[in-house]
Amino acid sequence: MFVHHCSACDRRQLIFPSQITGAATQDGESGLAFTCWCGSEQIWLLERKVSAAHVAAA
Ligand SMILES: [Zn+2]
Repeated sequence: MFVHHCSACDRRQLIFPSQITGAATQDGESGLAFTCWCGSEQIWLLERKVSAAHVAAA
């Protein structure tokens, strides 16, 4: 599970593994494709999470 800010419904939603539809890439970054509770197809970018963690640690 992870928390994602949906760009369609503009809410932070808890995403369950059952909602994940597969792997995806966006702007050259790899991530997970999933369907939000609102029905919107979203992509959770893995690279962005790594970068954010790196900035937070610095
Ligand atoms: Zn949504």
